Amino acid sequence: MFNAPFPTPAVVIHVTPYLAGAAAGTNYQTHVTLKPEIDANEKPEFSVHSVFHEIAHYYLYARPTWYAEGGAEFAASYARHVLTHTPIEVTNSPCSEAKSLSELETLFPEDSSDASANIDPSLWQCYYSLGERLMLTLYHALGEERFLQGWRELYATLAQAPAYPSEYEFEEVELRVAWLRAFGRLNQPELEQIWDRWYRGTASFVVDGVPDPSPADASLPAIKGGVDRAYVTLSPDGPAVNSFSAGDVTGWAYLTLEYSQRVEGSARELTLEIVEHSEDGFPYSRRDVTITFQPQHAGGTQWISLGPQPGQRWAPGRYWAYVYEGVRKVAEVEFEVTP
Ligand SMILES: [Zn+2]
Repeated sequence: MFNAPFPTPAVVIHVTPYLAGAAAGTNYQTHVTLKPEIDANEKPEFSVHSVFHEIAHYYLYARPTWYAEGGAEFAASYARHVLTHTPIEVTNSPCSEAKSLSELETLFPEDSSDASANIDPSLWQCYYSLGERLMLTLYHALGEERFLQGWRELYATLAQAPAYPSEYEFEEVELRVAWLRAFGRLNQPELEQIWDRWYRGTASFVVDGVPDPSPADASLPAIKGGVDRAYVTLSPDGPAVNSFSAGDVTGWAYLTLEYSQRVEGSARELTLEIVEHSEDGFPYSRRDVTITFQPQHAGGTQWISLGPQPGQRWAPGRYWAYVYEGVRKVAEVEFEVTP
């Protein structure tokens, strides 16, 4: 995707639990460190993405941090897309601390990012979250070929920098001009709009409407039952809520599914896909949950975690969680996170 030789003769991976801050891995150019959890048997999705992300840093060893981290997130998702032909999606929940990259830069000046071990994980995550959203918006607007043109032009600048892989620091204008060349002058307004939305923060990123307006069909024929009720709680067994304050909840909320069933004979397994959307128009989490239904029960309750990782704050805004069996939506919840 960079159209350039891999910048190192060997990838050395050091698997260690001792990593700075909340990082799953770090690329030091001489080697990559990754947490033991990347073992594919433990967290299959996470591990592939984390390994791709760290390897992408061989091409993306640069500043600003949002370009390096957002770029590595995008590259990891792009690599998966090339291998599996699934669409490229964002992988981070929305940024809770800033609406735009320029706001993030003022909250968190670039020279302080060396101290990543001491950085608030919610703030640190925003580099990934906002960075990958800008990249993916550019990718959708430009299409693959032209997107890669801008991307490769920026890498060529890095590769020519004296003593690469020193951390080359891009000026915001250098990044914008590389993408502008990919867009072509005639399409400059479109680029400026993307920049207003994700970099300058002068345009709203909120997308109108509902991500998936198709009606939910709650039946689950495979278990002769269905989803009776779907709602959000702040703890397993907690009361249903339609909204909660970002100041009150750190980390997961729970999608609670109450279901009925009539399984006969032996236990049955059913795999449901859980998709989480926020108002910025990106589905930010998509994963499968396999539930085992026992014949002696007539129903039960399943709790599914929603939202940012433990220790990270929710971004205020509207959210949707959808449950699919195959292509059929079987449950949905909409909720609001207030500041
Ligand atoms: Zn990284």
